[in-house]
Amino acid sequence: MHELSIATAIVERAEEIARAEGAEDVSAVTVRVGELAGVVPDALHFAFEVARDGTALAGARLLVEQVTARAWCDGCAQEFTVGMPPFFWCPRCDRPSQELRSGRELEITGVEAVAAPL
Ligand SMILES: [Zn+2]
Repeated sequence: MHELSIATAIVERAEEIARAEGAEDVSAVTVRVGELAGVVPDALHFAFEVARDGTALAGARLLVEQVTARAWCDGCAQEFTVGMPPFFWCPRCDRPSQELRSGRELEITGVEAVAAPL
């Protein structure tokens, strides 16, 4: 399962971030996932529950921020939503777009760490 390797990478990266801040546990991690990143949010949540076992994220929640896929149209100098499945064709001036502006994101945007007891 493709989402499991992504979830494992998220857990490992979040642990690194938490340790760098001197924390032991992570209570929540936020990720931005583009519509075209090829990640199914439900599958990612499920994989996260498996991947977090026995790590600093064992009690952590996964928050997924979905990013709408948008393309730029040179013809009318505006962005338009690409939709799902993606259709790279401007709905206003009926021209193809050559430039995807968003939708492929797959990144950690926040790690809520629990401070280690003194
Ligand atoms: Zn256009």
